[in-house]
Amino acid sequence: SEGVRLSFPVEGIDASIEVFTTRIDTIYGATFLSLAPEHPLVEALASRSSDGDDIRKFVEEVIRRREIERSAVGNEKKGYFTGFYARNPVTGERLPIWIADYVLMEYGTGAIMGVPAHDQRDFEFARKYGLEIRVVVNPPEEEKLDPATMDRAFEGEGYQCNSGPFDGLPTSVAIRRMAEWVESEGMGKREVNYRLRDWLISRQRYWGAPIPIVYCDRCGIVPVPEEDLPVLLPLDAHLLPGGGSPLPELEEWVNVPCPQCGAPAKRETDTMDTFICSSWYFLRFCSPWTDKAPFGKEDVDYWMPVDQYIGGIEHACLHLIYARFFTKVLADMGMVSVREPFAALLTQGMVIKDGAKMSKSKGNVVDPDEIMKTYGADTARLFILFASPPHKDLEWSDRGVQGAHRFLNRLFRFVEDNEEKLKGASTEPVPIGNLRKKEQRELKRIIHGTIQAVTRDIEVERQFNTGVARLMELLNALSVYEPKDPVDWSLMREGVETLLVCLSPYTPHVCEELWEKLGHDDMLAETEWPEPDPEALAEEEVTIVVQVNGKVRESINVPAGLSEENLKERVLTHEGVRRRLEGKEIKKVIVVPDKLVSLVVKD
Ligand SMILES: [Zn+2]
Repeated sequence: SEGVRLSFPVEGIDASIEVFTTRIDTIYGATFLSLAPEHPLVEALASRSSDGDDIRKFVEEVIRRREIERSAVGNEKKGYFTGFYARNPVTGERLPIWIADYVLMEYGTGAIMGVPAHDQRDFEFARKYGLEIRVVVNPPEEEKLDPATMDRAFEGEGYQCNSGPFDGLPTSVAIRRMAEWVESEGMGKREVNYRLRDWLISRQRYWGAPIPIVYCDRCGIVPVPEEDLPVLLPLDAHLLPGGGSPLPELEEWVNVPCPQCGAPAKRETDTMDTFICSSWYFLRFCSPWTDKAPFGKEDVDYWMPVDQYIGGIEHACLHLIYARFFTKVLADMGMVSVREPFAALLTQGMVIKDGAKMSKSKGNVVDPDEIMKTYGADTARLFILFASPPHKDLEWSDRGVQGAHRFLNRLFRFVEDNEEKLKGASTEPVPIGNLRKKEQRELKRIIHGTIQAVTRDIEVERQFNTGVARLMELLNALSVYEPKDPVDWSLMREGVETLLVCLSPYTPHVCEELWEKLGHDDMLAETEWPEPDPEALAEEEVTIVVQVNGKVRESINVPAGLSEENLKERVLTHEGVRRRLEGKEIKKVIVVPDKLVSLVVKD
């Protein structure tokens, strides 16, 4: 979080208390300071206080209770006044220094400025110990807050009051201005504070990376020297029926000489949390043969970052944060060059069946083996990819599976029925400019439009389902086309091959089979992905003649193939035509597609 670090000088001793706050706008409302019981200054204050023993007793009690219990809102707060005061660096005011159980050493500086009017925990604390509650932010469009009647802190945004020169400013402006001012006056410093905490990584189980540490009676905790890494798990472990790790039982593995003094010592038998390994496994994947280091920098720099990471949404929080953190640390250490491990993330949806998430425990699992036996793997793949985009949930439907199967059958029969003609056709695509017939140019346009759309669906949009829909349309267009001459058949072949190549990522087996039927010796999998021909993508234009009462009045260029309705609309909204028709009544419109629009009008 972004905020300001301030230093509150303690009266009577040469020390000050560091406080980090994200709400510098509430500095005028601070009425006390609280230290965490573990704060290093606590002992210094206790040793100078006549109450020293009571302070120490209070601290011991609090530390015994767990952190979680201590910091929760609503828990009864416990505190102890030290008898000391510190000076507010902004207002010069004297603030009593308390020790409070709800202040944690792990977060921030282990000390807080108490602003009871605008922080609920400070509010509860102040009410209990009768400390002053001073409002410095009033909520917008509401009555002014009265500390005497407030029943909880106001933590929202509003307008400054009781804040000297900053009165009247809205909270967001006040936070910025006051931070700048405090910094320019040398009272504090703007800072970004990370809520980082230690991570206990040891687990009492066999299956994990061994922690490379040896315990020696003489030397204490000794890391295993680098040349002896990695420490491998023993293979002769027997899992214990009652759970727990079998490692401590394996005397031969556990007992080793101390790497430092050579005396008998023992290995650490805990293993690492698997989150440790999942935080950098992708680096090892780039460099699996290295045996002198976890990974080779050159290999990692060549492959990383991961172009596309795919995983369940449940990993969006923990695993991905850890993996990014590890990568940044390794980058700081100079061991890798990338700072972000994953260039793109796709979180796939769940499979739903009969209204519930498909799972073993719910008993609604569809056995993929069954589908493969009945329909083949291609059908299963096509159905899954066609049923929904990958980031959405997928509703399993037996009818959908059958539909996918029917499409593949249709494709197979179509190629089989035309096998000889297609095989005999030229593989040299005819440029669109050389296609004489309109139907030929239309089919050419559909073929290249399909290449463009499917490529974008797969590579950019990750909308595999719409890609399939485009390929189904292409098969329809090929099925209704009536080839008559060799140019037609060459075009058909271009269409069928395009269809097979573009469909092959979805259903590789069927496509490979049909590819062979077309007479290819090489594998479809090794064929290059097609490029759309820009000329074939351009819309064809035709010139439409517009007649008014039998006389040619305009000629307009429009895309070829417009329907009667669309062509009529284009012509009637055309600037020149509209001017001619002004104030006249249209009696009749005759449309000849791609050629002519004739209007009969009356004054
Ligand atoms: Zn030793």
